[in-house]
Amino acid sequence: MNFIPVNEPVLDGNEKKYLCECIDTGWISSEGPFVKQFEEKMARLVNRKYGISVSNGTAALEIAVAALDIEDGDEVIMPAFTIISCATAVVKRGGIPVLVDSDQFTWNMNIEEIEEKITEKTKAIMIVHIYGLPIDVDPVLELAKKHNLKVIEDAAEMHGQTYKGKPCGSFGDISVFSFYPNKHITTGEGGMILTNDEKLAERCQSLRNLCFLKDVRYVHEEIGYNYRFTNLQAAVGLAQLEKIETTVARKREIGRLYTELLKNEAKVQIPLENYNDEDNIYWVYGLVLGNDVNISNREMVNLLASKGIGSRTFFWAIHEQPVFRKMGLFKGEKYPVAERLARKGFYIPSGLALKDEQIKEVVKRLSDILKELN
Ligand SMILES: *Cc1c(COP(=O)(O)O)cnc(C)c1O
Repeated sequence: MNFIPVNEPVLDGNEKKYLCECIDTGWISSEGPFVKQFEEKMARLVNRKYGISVSNGTAALEIAVAALDIEDGDEVIMPAFTIISCATAVVKRGGIPVLVDSDQFTWNMNIEEIEEKITEKTKAIMIVHIYGLPIDVDPVLELAKKHNLKVIEDAAEMHGQTYKGKPCGSFGDISVFSFYPNKHITTGEGGMILTNDEKLAERCQSLRNLCFLKDVRYVHEEIGYNYRFTNLQAAVGLAQLEKIETTVARKREIGRLYTELLKNEAKVQIPLENYNDEDNIYWVYGLVLGNDVNISNREMVNLLASKGIGSRTFFWAIHEQPVFRKMGLFKGEKYPVAERLARKGFYIPSGLALKDEQIKEVVKRLSDILKELN
């Protein structure tokens, strides 16, 4: 039985050609010409003036938080159901993540619960588009304006997605992307910060590069990071960017085929196909086990592996992360939807290399498992 991996990237465009150019010219560091080109093209893709590439999406979040001067005691509102990077970026600066539960159908932060979380210490709202559907951005932007808060937009799963016709990643005062291999554009590892604000852009550039003083090298007035992005990564990214439209189209095809095959499967909840007139781009194809299914997502991942299918559990909720519990954060807090997603959600293969035949095979083996659970 051949194994079907959870994700396999496709690198069949100009990736090799541009990489060879790096090697032939000797430009492999962050000083190489592809870095600027990639930053400019990403900025154009999401209608932003400035793109600042960094070593990964987590680094992008850290720089974004630092650039907004979030520090001791500052509160940042964010979803309870997201990757830990959102919270660690804030905690590392001494800030406090303030959590909001998720909507059970879109899996995005429940925006109705944001306003009650705003206090005098709130500095920013971090919106995170989860798994392929855009969060309802407009009401959040209004809230932010009303309360004079910054918006950090985590669009790490959203390359090529739009909200009301405008690109995701174009809404935050500062927005971030990741280029990890399971994202719609990959550079192996990589990330980018985008903004329209020149001052913020300069600050991010400085923070990413150890806060070197502009004219005096090796002299620093502030602690920065070395989160630079290389010409090799940019070479791959440029080639990936050229294919973004076909990538998104194929991801949508994969999602639609899964939905077609799984929509009558009573034991799992499938992703919404559309929200706010935007079709899901299925960063991953997520499933949530129904209430009457008596196994956890971890057990499901093991069962799928025994049938030759790679899968992953959903994110573990932020307030239940042992590391934060140890720090005394989120004591007694409960976010039932996030907790349920973390225990019952899992995603099945949906990488670009996946063939329709494999999709059918995944569904067949998954259905066999679900049948046996009775
Ligand atoms: C992937 C991802 C990140 C982090 O990206 P890395 O490049 O893996 O550090 C951040 N936020 C979200 C929502 C993600 O999905």
